[in-house]
Amino acid sequence: MKAMLLKKTAEIGSRPLSFDEIEIPRPGYGEVLIKVKACGVCRSNLQVIEGERGTPPKLPLVPGHEVVGVVSELGAGVSSLAVGDRVGAQPQFSVDNTCEYCISGRENLCINSKRLGWSIDGGYAEYMIGYANHLHKIPGNISDIDAAPLFCPGATAYGAVKNAEPFPGKKIAVFGIGGVGHLAIEFAKIAGARVTAVSRNALHTELAERVGADRTIISSEEDPADAISEDGGVDSSIVFAPSDEAVSQAIRSTKKGGIVVIGVDCNIKDFRFMNGQVIKSTVVGTRNDINRVLELASQGLVKVFAKEYKLKDANEALQLLKNNKVEGRIVLTT
Ligand SMILES: [Zn+2]
Ligand SMILES: [Zn+2]
Repeated sequence: MKAMLLKKTAEIGSRPLSFDEIEIPRPGYGEVLIKVKACGVCRSNLQVIEGERGTPPKLPLVPGHEVVGVVSELGAGVSSLAVGDRVGAQPQFSVDNTCEYCISGRENLCINSKRLGWSIDGGYAEYMIGYANHLHKIPGNISDIDAAPLFCPGATAYGAVKNAEPFPGKKIAVFGIGGVGHLAIEFAKIAGARVTAVSRNALHTELAERVGADRTIISSEEDPADAISEDGGVDSSIVFAPSDEAVSQAIRSTKKGGIVVIGVDCNIKDFRFMNGQVIKSTVVGTRNDINRVLELASQGLVKVFAKEYKLKDANEALQLLKNNKVEGRIVLTT
């Protein structure tokens, strides 16, 4: 099969992924072989490829962890799926189901999870192995390209909005309007919140308007914290912009006693304990979260802005992402 293969972590500008012919993997116990139809391009793919993600990846590696495809072969012990089922895979290939996080309903924090496109080969290929218990059947009215991003940015955005504790009329600001941020705006609107969207760049604020943001602020033109505070501040902020400055702006935009949800690595500054704010993180989603996201998407309530690229052009797609030139999500197809 064809796959985009990483042999050595390196800066994306050096085109570290090569379009190679490798053997089709065989499914083991509890696993299935998936013929990949679409795979989203995630900022964390970029970090894994560039060696910027803490734990180094297995090498050689097929990256990619938001994947839609069709089951083409069942491994031993699989009864929940059949050949021909259209399924989606998420960043957690599998979890142990036994650690303190799994048994308390927080499997997204599992200490023994295997990670697709990081510790296990992922979806930048024609075929991929999936773990049956961590695959989701996809409703027929969602296309392959629209479905793939639901499994990482969709679940992450849903979890972030849940952590922001939305209710009708609540004021929520979303900082960073990329693949995840545009979906966070949509989930906050579904919950009835009034949403302010903040981005450095007009390309992204236009997308925010299209997905229903009530107000947009271009942070390279004015200080969003000043602009939001003039209006009394927001009840909760959500940050997906990978910048300490954006986190600081979010903290300064949020009212006393408010919630700041952070979905990026950062150094926190400008945090004043006297303001009684709560800082939370958000990281991928549980299987329950993903089921809810699929349900909302099949009801037509979630619109994914995805752009199709060919698998062999993954280096270019990742470079565009690094340069903040992607509107919504890039999805690779074979
Ligand atoms: Zn992702
Ligand atoms: Zn666990």
